Amino acid sequence: MKYNRVIVWFRNDLRVHDHAPLISAMTKGAEIIPVYCFDQRNFHDLDLGFPKSGAFRAKFLIESVENLKRSLQSIGADLILEVGNPEERIIELATSFQAEAIFFSEEVTQEEKLVEERLEKSAWKLGIATEAFWQSTLFHMEDLPFPTNLVPEVFTQFRKECEKFSKVRKTLGAPQSINFPDNLSHSGEIPDLSTLGLSKPAHSKLGVLDFKGGEDEGKKRLQGYFWEKDLLKTYKETRNGLLGADYSSKFSPWLALGCLSPRYIYEEVLKYEKERKKNQSTYWLIFELIWRDYFRFICKKHGNKVFQISGIKNIVDNWRRDETIFWNWANGETGIPFVDANMREMNQTGFMSNRGRQIAASFLVNDLEIDWRWGASYFESMLIDYDVCSNWGNWMYVAGVGNDPRESRYFNILRQANNYDKKGDYIRHWIPEISVISGFDIHQPFELSTKSLNEKGVVLGKTYPKPIAKIKM
Ligand SMILES: Cc1cc2nc3c(=O)[nH]c(=O)nc-3n(C[C@H](O)[C@H](O)[C@H](O)COP(=O)(O)OP(=O)(O)OC[C@H]3O[C@@H](n4cnc5c(N)ncnc54)[C@H](O)[C@@H]3O)c2cc1C
Repeated sequence: MKYNRVIVWFRNDLRVHDHAPLISAMTKGAEIIPVYCFDQRNFHDLDLGFPKSGAFRAKFLIESVENLKRSLQSIGADLILEVGNPEERIIELATSFQAEAIFFSEEVTQEEKLVEERLEKSAWKLGIATEAFWQSTLFHMEDLPFPTNLVPEVFTQFRKECEKFSKVRKTLGAPQSINFPDNLSHSGEIPDLSTLGLSKPAHSKLGVLDFKGGEDEGKKRLQGYFWEKDLLKTYKETRNGLLGADYSSKFSPWLALGCLSPRYIYEEVLKYEKERKKNQSTYWLIFELIWRDYFRFICKKHGNKVFQISGIKNIVDNWRRDETIFWNWANGETGIPFVDANMREMNQTGFMSNRGRQIAASFLVNDLEIDWRWGASYFESMLIDYDVCSNWGNWMYVAGVGNDPRESRYFNILRQANNYDKKGDYIRHWIPEISVISGFDIHQPFELSTKSLNEKGVVLGKTYPKPIAKIKM
């Protein structure tokens, strides 16, 4: 189908490289109008009193949109900006710009799908065509060796079948120039945080990385991690670290907003394997990207179940809904240092390691027995790499209502602390008040707390709280 003028609606695909809707619109010879709409519904406060998307996330998003606008301008186009409900604003723009079609990237979960459906309905009524493109995964949906309703429930089976029977498609490259119409009457503005109802987050010098949004920054991180510091060859050994920029790739924030395409990362891994080294570590980064794919396809398969308390396993459990305990956890004040350190890191930077997420989530659901969806919502608000499928999929997994083939996956906090933070460097980094306790081993408070909590509690220090729960052993 030929179109004279197409709107390319950017969503979680804020890049110009490997961008299917953009490239497709170009091959049709159309004039292209790139558009991004800030959906204000994403920034409102939830019942628990925190915004659906918090300030760290919003800041990263704004930076990513700014970068996309600059990139488009550098190839002769621009990014038209809107604030409001995309399903209405995009249609208004299409009408006023006389666009014949709207191209966009397809999402999989409820809220995003609803926006797509409404937009499509309005567009069709007006005779405007729409085309949805599958992006964001390593393996294209059409190349899976099974239909999405038959995606295996066990990750290993999913991975093995994909690796055996599917191929990762080549990236689509990046356009050198775009046929952008002259004299558009409207270009809009990027809102600041206060317009979205948020305050600027305080900058913490303690964070693993000074994350900045945008395709250029994402590519810079890859360049540094793979090529300049040559770290890919040791990724598998370091990936469970907690401190510093380089224990893992830190690609997740750029992947979540689509500033980096997973296929681009994949091609860079292959190049690294050819030019530098191929080993377990280089493969393991791809292995982790397949986890990311997996959760996306699981969400596609199970729809709304991923947000329901009984999850995809339909397990009915008696979760507690105690807001005081929840806030102890969320604020990093449980009195369990290894949990608190991780929560404080996220609260002060918008990032937490994978190990930290597993521990903090497990403590909330297994030790505190709080409704796992509260934890997932809090992570949704805080994490700069929030990805609906990875977040809710991983939370379901830890809560025992998702794809974990094991009956219950319990992270023993003491053992985890001893394995991953033996000397307590990570705990001291985020809870400096603990380091002033003289005569204590940094991990001793765990043991003391589990033994004497019920009788008299444990005095850990002047300001650090007493443990709020007994750790299950
Ligand atoms: C409770 C919980 C919530 C999570 N929420 C999110 C989220 O909202 N967004 C998100 O991107 N990841 C989430 N993860 C997965 C994982 O923790 C992060 O992807 C990872 O910590 C990001 O750091 P990195 O980029 O350095 O990862 P690396 O170790 O360098 O891995 C490379 C990439 O592989 C993918 N990946 C790695 N582990 C996982 C995983 N377990 N699930 C899915 N993808 C993975 C990510 O895209 C990551 O960027 C969550 C994990 C848990 C346990």
